[in-house]
Amino acid sequence: MQMEPPLSWALQSTLKRGPPGARERRFTRSVRVPVNNHLIEMLPRKERIDFLSICEPFVLGLSETLFEAGAPTKHVYFPIDGFVSLLAVVDDASLLEVGMVGREGMLGIHVALGALRSPLGALVQGPGAAWRVPVGPFKKELERSAALRRGLNRYVAVLMSQLASSAACARYHLISPRLARWLLMSQDRAQSGRFFMTQEFLSYMLGVRRVGVTSAASKLQQRGLIEYHRGEMKVLDRAGLEAEACSCYATDQIAYAALSQRANDHRLDTMLPAAAIVAASRPMGELRESSHRSTKS
Ligand SMILES: [Zn+2]
Repeated sequence: MQMEPPLSWALQSTLKRGPPGARERRFTRSVRVPVNNHLIEMLPRKERIDFLSICEPFVLGLSETLFEAGAPTKHVYFPIDGFVSLLAVVDDASLLEVGMVGREGMLGIHVALGALRSPLGALVQGPGAAWRVPVGPFKKELERSAALRRGLNRYVAVLMSQLASSAACARYHLISPRLARWLLMSQDRAQSGRFFMTQEFLSYMLGVRRVGVTSAASKLQQRGLIEYHRGEMKVLDRAGLEAEACSCYATDQIAYAALSQRANDHRLDTMLPAAAIVAASRPMGELRESSHRSTKS
């Protein structure tokens, strides 16, 4: 199942109704649409428009592999409303989730650091939309834009903090608080209280046996914090989950707060004229096509 992203779809299908010149003029005057990825929103206006000109809209399909650990990277991704797990591969066999990326971040930050192969796998957990950028243009823009480099450097620091807290969390915290943390992180990035998630997959993500996840999820459900039915996880009591979650959730929140504050500081300047977005985007047909082509990069 793929959720349709609200941004480009609605906009572009509306734009298809009129001739190009007329529709650009109309939307440039009257409609402004959000970029919706915080790292892009933080860029100064001119650089943001330049950056969007190398972006293409992309569908994040549920359970889609964006990166395989060790494989060459062809694209980097800036999620808009989906979210993606970063996975460490252990002994070429087991996977453990070590990070989660949504609209606060990007996938492929290793490219900004000069590496062309991903050290981690990346798997879509929450379907949605993202901006996708080929590695070549991304590196050129990085060389050109000091603001982009500064923003991504800050993001590297935040991501390092999340990776470190994940390692400590897996070692020291119990399953139920870790599950609560995972649900909160997912809700933050999906901007929705519902996720599709099998318990088998959750046991993978948390690196514990399935029976442990089943037991923890049952307890959260009995306490009225979540509802779980046939793979659909629904958050019923967010405050209760926050109280249940391990301290790693608060640690992550503090690390991301600095980034979010910067995005909020630019809030009035984070909306771009629709024409700028459309100029930066491919037609809807190509977008759908691109989502069905090979996504391993
Ligand atoms: Zn923890």
